[in-house]
Amino acid sequence: MDLKQFITIVPDWPKPGIKFKDITPLMNDGEAYKYATDQIVSYAKEKQIDIIVGPEARGFIIGCPVAYSLGVGFAPVRKEGKLPRETINVSYGLEYGKDVLTIHKDAIKPGQRVLITDDLLATGGTIEATIQLVEELGGVVAGIAFLVELSYLDGRKKLDGYDILTLMHY
Ligand code: 5GP
Repeated sequence: MDLKQFITIVPDWPKPGIKFKDITPLMNDGEAYKYATDQIVSYAKEKQIDIIVGPEARGFIIGCPVAYSLGVGFAPVRKEGKLPRETINVSYGLEYGKDVLTIHKDAIKPGQRVLITDDLLATGGTIEATIQLVEELGGVVAGIAFLVELSYLDGRKKLDGYDILTLMHY
């Protein structure tokens, strides 16, 4: 299936000059969403995943159906102040300023094989921070899966040494 037909490119959003890749048409189409999910499920089986971790909010959209299909757990990574119990935090650079990502301290058991999911790889900052959280808890990042990779931003450089699956490249 050609998944790119379900990605709408929105010019000048959220800022002038940005060509935003809108994945919501893919989620809207049951067959396309299932097809994309099944590709990631196969990858996760190959990597013998114990648990899935995804950053809010689109990491949930990709990771949760995969977790359900495999019968494994899902641990959310959230912005600061959103998780109710004890967390560990990591600060990461944005284009302007900084942001903080958090995960519950007991979300991952040491040695668990983790698949990280998100909708899109741009500069790699979000996933680099997510990897730090997983590894600080003793998790093993066995794979990282995205729907879309913006190859021209070279986010893979930041994720050097990790195994990455992307279903679409721009
Ligand atoms: P990075 O940290 O790799 O620079 O940015 C990736 C994060 O920003 C992802 O969590 C993703 O959801 C969001 N993002 C950045 N650009 C786009 C885009 O064009 N489309 C979508 N759907 N998400 C984007």
